[in-house]
Amino acid sequence: MIATKSYAAPKAKAPLGPFTIQRREPGEHDVLIDIAYCGVCHSDIHQARDEWGGSVFPMVPGHEIVGHVSKIGSGVKKFKVGDAVGVGCFVDSCRECPSCKEGLEQYCEKGMSATYNGFEKDGKTPTYGGYSAQVTVDENYVLRIPSNIPLDKAAPLLCAGITTYSPLHHWKVKAGDKVAVVGLGGLGHMGVKIAAAMGAEVTVISTSDKKKDDALKLGAKHFINSKDPAAFPAHQREFDFILNTVAAGIDLGAYLMLLKRDGSMVQVGAPDKPLALNVFALILGRRSLGGSLIGGIKETQEMLDFCGQKGFGADIEVIPIDKINEAYERMIKGDVHYRFVIDIKSLK
Ligand code: NAP
Ligand code: ZN
Ligand code: ZN
Repeated sequence: MIATKSYAAPKAKAPLGPFTIQRREPGEHDVLIDIAYCGVCHSDIHQARDEWGGSVFPMVPGHEIVGHVSKIGSGVKKFKVGDAVGVGCFVDSCRECPSCKEGLEQYCEKGMSATYNGFEKDGKTPTYGGYSAQVTVDENYVLRIPSNIPLDKAAPLLCAGITTYSPLHHWKVKAGDKVAVVGLGGLGHMGVKIAAAMGAEVTVISTSDKKKDDALKLGAKHFINSKDPAAFPAHQREFDFILNTVAAGIDLGAYLMLLKRDGSMVQVGAPDKPLALNVFALILGRRSLGGSLIGGIKETQEMLDFCGQKGFGADIEVIPIDKINEAYERMIKGDVHYRFVIDIKSLK
């Protein structure tokens, strides 16, 4: 075993602090990764505070991991020592169910092994995430980082990037489509960049005017302040597709009314409480409401290559690991521009 420095939440809602974990020596198909950066996702907060229930403690969060391969097992074919690589939200899956066979491991019918707050395939060894110095992962669950994206800016692609790319891709958003992104945080800002790069005409719907200039710089053409009483009536039937990244309870019916006939709204934000829905908003325009979970390995690589070709990563604020508790508080207030990324050097 390899003793590895990390930051962990000892129990729900407790501040994170230094903690030592054990990583396995790379097996035949494993790579050992020296972690360089790890993005901070709002899901880290939900889970470290046990807002969704069932959290496993102590918890080392982090599923936007990038670094370099430092050691490989004898059977590894895809990577060599020194390669720039990434790991996203899961590190294994059953590999046999229909979803795994279709490359949609995130929907594994036996349950994927989440990168943290989960268990390895043996069902008992806890997984620990990327707020740590290194990680051992099966090569089939490791991604290649395009050489033109700086590693720190690439880290958030592993969750925020793929979580927004996958629904835009699956619902076939195309050039000229009118797309609204609700909530300009980590996911939202990647949603804007990716949808704009796909050629869509993007509108940001945000809870104040504070982020308007940023939204336009990120690639949005229009901006709506959702607190403005005139906003919803003025934009009825405007959008082909709405991506909702908000974790709070919003009036789904009011947002659905912003869709054209046959439009779809997809929920990626994951509130801890059920939301009410006025179904007339669906019925009256043959509209759909969907959900989407991260993305599979194949699609994640496709998204990374797409961002590489277009030449962008995330907009980030790099922090040392001892600022993580402060970063959580700022994210809860919506005060992040637009993803915190931990410089893992600060841990070593
Ligand atoms: P984030 O960076 O904190 O951004 C969330 C944004 O939501 C905020 O910046 C804010 O944007 C908006 N917001 C916050 N409170 C709100 C409220 N009360 N009403 C309306 N809008 C509000 O979070 P994130 O990392 O992007 O994650 C967002 C959600 O997606 C979380 O629930 C996370 O767990 C979930 N998630 C889901 C998946 C998936 O696979 N489906 C993957 C990753 C994350 P404005 O300032 O613009 O209003
Ligand atoms: Zn995430
Ligand atoms: Zn499976």
